[in-house]
Amino acid sequence: MTATILDGRAVAARVKEEVASAVAEMPSTPGLATVLVGDDPASHSYVRGKRNDAAEVGIRSVHHELDSSISQDELHTLIDRLNADDEVDGILVQLPLPGDLDGEAAVERIDPRKDVDGLHPFNLGRLVLDKPGLRPCTPSGVMRILDHYGISVTGKRAVVIGRSFLVGRPLALMLSARGADATVTIAHSRTTDLAGLARSADILVAAVGVPQMVTADFVAPGATVIDVGINRVDGRLVGDVAYEEVAEVAGAITPVPGGVGPMTRAMLLVNTLAAARS
Ligand code: NDP
Repeated sequence: MTATILDGRAVAARVKEEVASAVAEMPSTPGLATVLVGDDPASHSYVRGKRNDAAEVGIRSVHHELDSSISQDELHTLIDRLNADDEVDGILVQLPLPGDLDGEAAVERIDPRKDVDGLHPFNLGRLVLDKPGLRPCTPSGVMRILDHYGISVTGKRAVVIGRSFLVGRPLALMLSARGADATVTIAHSRTTDLAGLARSADILVAAVGVPQMVTADFVAPGATVIDVGINRVDGRLVGDVAYEEVAEVAGAITPVPGGVGPMTRAMLLVNTLAAARS
């Protein structure tokens, strides 16, 4: 079997077109504030990418760059100002923060209505309650790519490897939410017989951060495999899935790069639009 490639770049382009036409209909241009602390090159490149995406769909972004010597209070003062600014619909604080700065506290300081990363406890709580709210971008991107390819998860067995608050847990909740209706198991570093468990999945998600950990023996023939992992190995980007061998067994698979990554970026735009409309 050779798997269908779930093309995140193509789906993200479609999502961006939808956002761009919705933005064009808005009475005023949505505004995204990006907050970047310190000089980590990867964080700079991520934020640059997000601002370029925003510009592409007609969302105005205002960038705030702060020195890593800033105090938590100073960071919160900026967030308070952005919370109060009517021109700002969404606030993104790029994580992780350098040094001793507390990323969770910074996210909690954001007005939940402007929390376009969907990581504020209020929005995560809404997810647990199965109520509408801003959802974390990576899990939303995974749901969207499944939907785009007509891969129904209803009644299916899903195994999510990884239990982070950023990806694994929220994705497990979204897969098992009413309307999606998958039966979900969350696996982690203490899970026994991980390969055996993974083989029971119709939908297998790897959100681990261990390069190419998911090998062909983790995958049932025909299963859908979603690779969230982004790992740099010898200067090359690889996922958590051993793509070549798994693609021989799976029914459908996301590549890395070009799978979940572009979807994550696109869903930030969807959230910014939703925040501007609310
Ligand atoms: P975390 O490090 O926060 O979580 C990793 C999870 O994987 C933990 O729950 C951990 O278990 C589990 N884990 C680690 N090693 C093993 C193992 N050997 N067997 C089973 N489970 C294991 O990572 P994130 O969730 O933030 O990110 C996961 C991956 O996704 C990373 O590669 C990251 O770069 C990528 N990522 C990609 C995004 C995208 O847009 N495509 C966005 C966000 C992240 P335990 O809890 O027991 O420690």
